[in-house]
This record gives sequence, C-alpha cells and structure tokens, in this order.
Amino acid sequence: MSLKKLSWMLIAVTLLAVQAQAAPPYKALIVDGQNAHDWKNTTPVLKKILEESGLFAVEVATSPAKGQDLSGFRPKFVAYDVIVSNYQGDDWPAETRADLVEYVQRGGGLVIYHFACAAFPKWKEYNEMMGLGGWGGRTEKAGAYLRWKDGKIVRDNSPGKTGAHGPAQPFQIVVREPNHPITKGLPPAFMHVTDELYGWLRGPGKNLTVLATAFAPKEKGGADEHEPILFTVEFGKGRVFFDALGHQPEQLKSVSFIATLQRGAEWAATGRVTQKVPADFPTADKAAVRE
Ligand code: ZN
Repeated sequence: MSLKKLSWMLIAVTLLAVQAQAAPPYKALIVDGQNAHDWKNTTPVLKKILEESGLFAVEVATSPAKGQDLSGFRPKFVAYDVIVSNYQGDDWPAETRADLVEYVQRGGGLVIYHFACAAFPKWKEYNEMMGLGGWGGRTEKAGAYLRWKDGKIVRDNSPGKTGAHGPAQPFQIVVREPNHPITKGLPPAFMHVTDELYGWLRGPGKNLTVLATAFAPKEKGGADEHEPILFTVEFGKGRVFFDALGHQPEQLKSVSFIATLQRGAEWAATGRVTQKVPADFPTADKAAVRE
C-alpha cells in the first residue's frame, strides 16, 4: 500500500472516531423560563456541564414569562431520556403536568435542580416525585423532615420552617449511601464551595434514598442537623435525582456540583453511572473549582 493511500485511510478512520465521539447517546431537556433565581445564566452552564459528560445532547424548553399565558407550554417530555428542571414559577397547564407525571411513571428521568424544589407547592405528584421541597408557601403539612440520626435517616415531624437556609457558606458533603451508582467511588466526604446550604425541606419522602447530607450549624443559620443535599426518589418506573446545590453560576464551577449533576443525570436517564470520578474531585477538606 502506498504511503498516500495509508494516510487517507488514517484520516478516514480518525474522522469516523470523531463522529462516533460527537454523537452523545442520550437526550436531555432543561426546562426553565420562570424562577426567582437567575435561570437565564444558570441554564447555559447546566447545559455545558451535561454536554461535557459526553453523554447528553441537551435542548432547552423555555416557558412564557411569569403572568403570561402558559396554555401553549407543553414540552414533549417523552422525546428525552432526562428532564432537568430549572423552573420555579406559575403552575403549568393540567395536560403539561399530566405529561410529566406519566413520563416519569413510565420510566423517565427527572433532575430537580436547586430552587426547582420551591416550585408547584400544590401539585401533589410533583411533591411526590421530588420527595422533599420548601418555600412557595409550603407548611408543615408538606410532610416530615428527613434527618440523619444515629447512623440512619429518620423522619422528623417537628414543627418549624419548610425550606430555609443561613448565609452562604462553604460546607462538607458526607456520603450516606456509598453503594448507589451516583455515589459509588466518591470519597466518603468532600467539600463544596461557598453556597446556600438548603435546610428544613419537607415532603412525602416516599421511596426516597438520601445519598448525601451536609451539616448545617446553628451559628451559621442552620438547624444543627445533617440536611439531605443529594437524594433520589423512585416514582413508578422512573428515577428522580434531587440536587440542592448551585445557587448561581459561580457555584456551578464547584466540581462537587459538576460531577454529581453529571452522575445524577446519567442515573436518572438510565439507572446506571458509567462515568469515572474526575481526577480533580474535591477532598474532605478542600473544594475544587473549574474555571
Ligand atoms: Zn439559591
């Protein structure tokens, strides 16, 4: 074979490899459009993080603005492997709500990101799918707190707030379920950057697995409890991953956030996690950021 022919073959093989790499196996849909948080600047970062996993082609469905007519807002959830909610605002039309419930019930994946846990206080199935939530006028009637006590998660029906946090602070995340695909291989504890430490979340908490907690000390505005920060809910045949982290784009640079979102989204989409723990993953006492 001539050298020229060989070079052309090498080029062809390289192109095929690049093509194969360029086609992510799964489809993700980020839903936004309303949120008391900065959805316009967090959605592009969430999209980039999911795409950088190499696993997802990501699209975005943006609802009309608050107070506008939402009757035409009906994303085709079934066309995706995972829905990532960055939405907190007006109630969706009944058929859109029914679509999401049916989608998850039949095996779809859902990721609840940060303040999406304040959405839809009156939508029963949404609260069941996400497990725990806060704010949005929620009260003690939303359900119990989940607390880590004496080596296990317990339900706590104490009176008190439903969704709150102290001033942003750096905190350590402690893995409570090391054998779950999302947490398997992660260090037992790892630092997150200065962020809101969500606390006092309440909800039905059915079929819920707490993957990781963070201790919220009283002197820093917390409940002096180990708060559930990362957890999963199995709803019908579907999988839900809840990620309380990531107040603003700045916090989305934390490798604690990046890696757990990528792993949580893959698990929600497929029930498995094939990703390796990144080399820059934080340690028990030092957070890691990617610029
Ligand atoms: Zn926030």
